Amino acid sequence: MASRTVRNLVDGEWVESLSGRTRERRNPADTRDVVSTFPESDAKDADAAVSAVAAGWEAWAATGPEQRATVLEAAAGILERQRDSLIEDLVREEGKTRAEATMEVSRTPMNLRFYAGEAMRTAGVTLPTGDGSLVFTLRAPVGVVAAITPWNFPLNIPSRKLGPALAAGNGVVFKPSEVTPLLGQRLVDALLAGGLPAGAIAVLHGGAEVASALVTDDRVDAVTFTGSTNVGESIHRASRASRRTQLEMGGKNPVVVLEDADLDRAANLIVKGAFGLSGQACTGTSRVLVHDAVHDALLERIAAGAQALRVGPGLVDGVDMGPLANERQRDSVLGHVARALDDGARLVIGGPADDTQDLTAGDLAHGHFVRPTIFADVDPASALATEEVFGPVLAVLRVQSLDHAVELADATRFGLSAGIVTADVARALRFARRVTAGLVKVNQPTTGQAMNAPFGGLKDSSTQTSKEQAGDSMMAFYTVDKTVYLSA
Ligand code: NAD
Repeated sequence: MASRTVRNLVDGEWVESLSGRTRERRNPADTRDVVSTFPESDAKDADAAVSAVAAGWEAWAATGPEQRATVLEAAAGILERQRDSLIEDLVREEGKTRAEATMEVSRTPMNLRFYAGEAMRTAGVTLPTGDGSLVFTLRAPVGVVAAITPWNFPLNIPSRKLGPALAAGNGVVFKPSEVTPLLGQRLVDALLAGGLPAGAIAVLHGGAEVASALVTDDRVDAVTFTGSTNVGESIHRASRASRRTQLEMGGKNPVVVLEDADLDRAANLIVKGAFGLSGQACTGTSRVLVHDAVHDALLERIAAGAQALRVGPGLVDGVDMGPLANERQRDSVLGHVARALDDGARLVIGGPADDTQDLTAGDLAHGHFVRPTIFADVDPASALATEEVFGPVLAVLRVQSLDHAVELADATRFGLSAGIVTADVARALRFARRVTAGLVKVNQPTTGQAMNAPFGGLKDSSTQTSKEQAGDSMMAFYTVDKTVYLSA
């Protein structure tokens, strides 16, 4: 397949980086396939992009909510009509399977439609007074919003930031992940084709260099970031106190399995949560905390389910799990596996000696493939039990009671998603009340969210600035409130 040229968007023009530097993105299932060449932007490009949006956003803010809603609706329709080619690009650029890509490509226009509605609904309040005057809050856009996103949902996550930011009348400087530049460009192409004025948006491609220039630019009024906790914390340190910053970060998500659980059901949802998206979901299951009484029976079922998964390129029929996103990701995951072995965890399936599938033969040798890997008897204090792996590696730990499960579930710095499998609703509710996680799933995988539900983590998984995706506070991040006192 042909390689595509991806460009920055500055002042309504698709342009090269000012330095002329470029990078290549290769297909993670077959690195002989160059998906795109894209700009390696730097501080000068960031300066030009912020200048353009700083000059242009107020014209967008002055439009009515109907017009902003119409643009988001139109972009949604365009994405729906481009569905097949978006799915192919998503598989080729990011590495999802066709089924996983189909879900993301279907969800993205729904998000834009949801935020189109928010453009019309976002309103202030009027407060009672005793003297006949009027006190009310006026909601206005924040101004210039920088949106910095990861590669694992290159359409869905940006649409959850660009959608509400634009619905509220902000200008956006969008920095997609350098792993998925093409999908970033395609999302913005749809917004422009849907009628978004050029002054309301700029796109910068590249990595840490341009992203850190963006977050230290004083003309940026708000930063919304999704990515790793380490990078998020560096953004927080670089930001001035008065700038609003929304950071949605990593996870180490547990599933607790109690002794009364339906073990087949538990194993299915654990395999789905741990190995879906090749384990590269922020809400992916990375720990199982299973009651001693059912430990062996559950482990056997999870291992069988994971072992049956076929790894390969996402467009090939019958493939259940695609590659990891790039060499760095694969090496990092294999590093976690090696460390777990050194730390004495018991390898159940996967790992270096797994011969279920020869990943070094034929075309597979050109992709970043890793077999599903499960460790048991994992030390709760070890790296595998506490650090985010972001790959298809599952740690299984024994617990003796619900209290013990809550204690271990909370024994990491993260607090994104936590699941429990039990037939006992009362114990499930006790877990939901006590565990420190932004999402609690009862008899469901840790992954997967309703698009109209608030989303975000606790602890080091999030700044908890306001929830992403939906809910009362979501539009608050993208608007400022002024309290107006009016006497006639
Ligand atoms: P990452 O932190 O490496 O990169 C995220 C984005 O930040 C990219 O666009 C990257 O170019 C940019 N960036 C890199 N260095 C920067 C810097 N110094 N300053 C500003 N920006 C910088 O994350 P990733 O590898 O793209 O994504 C995987 C991570 O994202 C995982 O930790 C995962 O848990 C997390 N994630 C979280 C959520 C969530 O909603 N909580 C969702 C998806 C992914």
